[in-house]
Amino acid sequence: MKRSHWGGSNSRPPDYESGAIPAKPQWRKPWAATDGHKPHGQKPSVDEGRGPATTMGEGDSVRYRNAVLYDETGNKHVGDVLLHQDGSWSSSNGDEDVKQDVDGSNRLITRSLQNWHTHLAMQLNARDFSDGFPLHRWLNEAIFPTEAKITPEFVKVGAQAAAAELIKTGTSFAADMYFYPAITGEVLDKAGLRGLIGGPVSDAALPSHEDAQSALDELDSMLKHQSPLDKVQYAIATHSVYLCSEETLRRASELAEKRDARLHIHVSETRKEVAECHEKTGLYPVEYLDSIDFFKPGTICAHASWMKKNEIRMLARHEATAVHCPSSNMKLACGGTLSLPAFNEAGVDVRIGTDGAASSGSGLNLLAEARLAALVQRHDHWDPTLMTAKDAFAMATKGSQDWAVWDIDDVRMRPTGRSNNRHITNLLFNGATCLDLWVGGDAVRFDGTTQTLDERQSWLDLDEAVQTYYDGVE
Ligand SMILES: [Zn+2]
Repeated sequence: MKRSHWGGSNSRPPDYESGAIPAKPQWRKPWAATDGHKPHGQKPSVDEGRGPATTMGEGDSVRYRNAVLYDETGNKHVGDVLLHQDGSWSSSNGDEDVKQDVDGSNRLITRSLQNWHTHLAMQLNARDFSDGFPLHRWLNEAIFPTEAKITPEFVKVGAQAAAAELIKTGTSFAADMYFYPAITGEVLDKAGLRGLIGGPVSDAALPSHEDAQSALDELDSMLKHQSPLDKVQYAIATHSVYLCSEETLRRASELAEKRDARLHIHVSETRKEVAECHEKTGLYPVEYLDSIDFFKPGTICAHASWMKKNEIRMLARHEATAVHCPSSNMKLACGGTLSLPAFNEAGVDVRIGTDGAASSGSGLNLLAEARLAALVQRHDHWDPTLMTAKDAFAMATKGSQDWAVWDIDDVRMRPTGRSNNRHITNLLFNGATCLDLWVGGDAVRFDGTTQTLDERQSWLDLDEAVQTYYDGVE
């Protein structure tokens, strides 16, 4: 029987098979991959950790007493710990001068979650917006006609409600792609979160710009003025090969080169997209993007579902980041999702994203998305060892320099086991309440209450906005 040349599962259709027999894959654990992935020639990423624990700056640190902390390598530490302003941690001797002293006896401390593919303001279209439509019908009949009316004020309301959900679910970073990026950036900044906010570039009608070139011009100006120290960074989000011309893709890539910025694009999400690209260009999407010199180090490729192994190797060669979005792929019935063994074998940096809350089956809850990632990878490949809960959690928090603190006084987090080491598996499979979220040394959420925005007001504003935003959709 022919083995699939695709990276995906055995459900790939025969017309996409070449019959090549791939070498036996060597699985690599996600957290054995390069942590704090930094593409060559790029400035430090906004999500990157800052190295091992230090003892600097205790006066700005927070002490948790009798807590359980898992560090980024998955090692457990029990006792009194200090979380430092710079994102590092150390053991506490109990008498340092700290800014806050917290009883950690019901708390589990982990690195915070990182959501690598979002359309945050699409919180406006969450979660039952034309539910049941396949992707292209959902886009053309529901999303695009509604988005034609988007305004900066709608984006602000949607992004605020998105920030509220990110914080509530323990996520400190989002890589976004949506209209009016400066508005989303401002909302995340005020909420105390990190972001890599991609301004949209496409040759479809843009509600925010006359054409793709004017969108690129505005991004050029934003990229020129940002500081690498800002928690919110901007990026260039070319929507996809089906909405961007070759010229637009080339110009976007040139701008990325000029401003040392990251590109963000949907790639190979559906068979339709792949087949149409091949029909038009004679190449599959990644081959096509490679042929026009689109890729720059760190290009974020959302979905990466329907890719051949040679395309996956191209992503590795270009130091791209592939984003696994399993719930969106399943909700929109795309028939395939990123195939982790092939990406691991090629050495591609893989992260997890929810997609926008409208197409996501997990809202913006990255913990729920990571659970689905573990389940679908095992299911697709008939291999329960492929992505353990700890592997999935490591991928979901990879590169984080911030901390989420979870309530373990909860049946979902019990039992902790005879060796008191089931925390991460319980958290991944059952979920838990995020009590505290520390970003850059500041408490964005503390003791179950978001500190940087009025969570309830953000929902009320969302409900009010959709009364005028929706047209023909309930
Ligand atoms: Zn998307």
